[in-house]
Amino acid sequence: MIKKYIPASVKTMVKMALYSGTKYECPICGFKAKELYPIGCDFPVLKEMQIIGAGPRAGGCYKCNSSDRERLVYTYLRDKLKVWDKKQMSILHLAPEKNISRLLSETGFDNYVCGDLFTEGYDYPDYVQNMNVLDIPFEDNSFDLIICNHLLEHVPTDAAAMAELYRVLRPEGQAILQVPISPILENTYEDLSIVDPAEREKAFGQFDHVRIYGQDYPGKLEAAGFTVRKQNISAEYPKYGLSLQEDLYLATKAAD
Ligand SMILES: [Zn+2]
Repeated sequence: MIKKYIPASVKTMVKMALYSGTKYECPICGFKAKELYPIGCDFPVLKEMQIIGAGPRAGGCYKCNSSDRERLVYTYLRDKLKVWDKKQMSILHLAPEKNISRLLSETGFDNYVCGDLFTEGYDYPDYVQNMNVLDIPFEDNSFDLIICNHLLEHVPTDAAAMAELYRVLRPEGQAILQVPISPILENTYEDLSIVDPAEREKAFGQFDHVRIYGQDYPGKLEAAGFTVRKQNISAEYPKYGLSLQEDLYLATKAAD
């Protein structure tokens, strides 16, 4: 009962005092830590399929609560795309990561649109609008950059979602499209007849996932029109607590 009334900021300060160190340095909040806290679900299928981007691992920042995969995307945006130097960019951010979206929304881009499919019981920051990836309310070729991570595995008609993302991306624009993915599964495992949350946990590793992507994932994006490139930058940042296995899936739209 007492625990409940301790404000989160005090809890965070206590954790920061306990876990400060030199092994890790969070690129988002700058906190220097001796360890990261455990994140991810523990369903056997995640281990069996060696899923990258899910499963139990040490990945949480005690200060800003970023995960390994959020820090990876942030680092890519900051160092490789250098988006914070390009305020004229038009950006669509779906299923927004909390820290990244807050930082992007504060930057003052010419156009930063943040959307999520509103779900009962969740709170959304005021810069997030209710949006369905199957019906993005923008014209063709509207965005230079799309950030849409860990969303496609929730959508039964993922090919339609990919086509919609492709439609609103500008020629020569780029999309970052991360999903939980199995390095040992050649073909994506999908069974849309599994709808019970507990059964989905067993089959796909999360109560609201509808598939596990395999190595055919880039091919699915290509079928929607994208050109896909895999890039791994994790080893360049040994202190950021990134997953060495996590590749970035970067999808571009060819010039007209
Ligand atoms: Zn942090």
